[in-house]
Amino acid sequence: MARTALIVGNWKMHGTSAGKAGLDGLALVGALLAKLRDGPPPRCDLLVCPPATLLARVADLARGSAIAIGGQDCHAKADGPHTGDVSAEMLADAGCRFVIVGHSERRSDHGETDPLVRAKAEAAHRAGLVAIVCVGETEAERLAGKAAEVVGRQLAGSLPAGADPSNTVVAYEPVWAIGTGRTPTAKDIAAMHGLVRKTLAGRGANLADMRILYGGSVKASNAAEILGIGDVDGALVGGASLKADEFWAVAQACR
Ligand code: PEP
Repeated sequence: MARTALIVGNWKMHGTSAGKAGLDGLALVGALLAKLRDGPPPRCDLLVCPPATLLARVADLARGSAIAIGGQDCHAKADGPHTGDVSAEMLADAGCRFVIVGHSERRSDHGETDPLVRAKAEAAHRAGLVAIVCVGETEAERLAGKAAEVVGRQLAGSLPAGADPSNTVVAYEPVWAIGTGRTPTAKDIAAMHGLVRKTLAGRGANLADMRILYGGSVKASNAAEILGIGDVDGALVGGASLKADEFWAVAQACR
């Protein structure tokens, strides 16, 4: 079955309402909406994941458009004494339809483990959100020939039992390619996506159709090649999602 590609902009900790601390997040989404109006429409689903402080305002701006909104993380619980955290229910209330869980920056900056990532993905499902579950090996793991083993272990530990193509997306993001300008070879991306697809199919025939995104230094100049690789169903884009022209060009590379 043909899967519609998904292009995700992960703004990370960038964006205020008027560029007071760098990026003007409202202007960025406004520029993307203008591009959507002017066409041609991209052959993909579009999602932007702004910082939590901008979610509601970006969701207001994008309401009724082809741009969906997602959070960058959520707490596993629906509410409670967890100072500074945001629950999946709160993200849904702010207008989100998706949430990224287990991004490598969460795994490294906050010590997030596979069981915690799985609990967050379950929370996303509980709140009616689609969970984008991130997996990917470090450079040391790849050099040691352990990339497949690591990604297999992360998938087994991070995907909840109820995961299916309607509520879950997998993002393969080799840690060493994130924000570095380096990307794996097309052969290596194809091999890893094939492995992820096989692993998903092994969990249940209905999981084989789950979207598998590639993430790690995707930009306008390499998007067509990466998005053309078998079993790549879209991209998780960090740095290049902060410029409307660049992000739009990535989306336009979907065929
Ligand atoms: C990311 O944030 O998930 C990412 C892939 O970043 P970048 O595109 O900047 O490598």
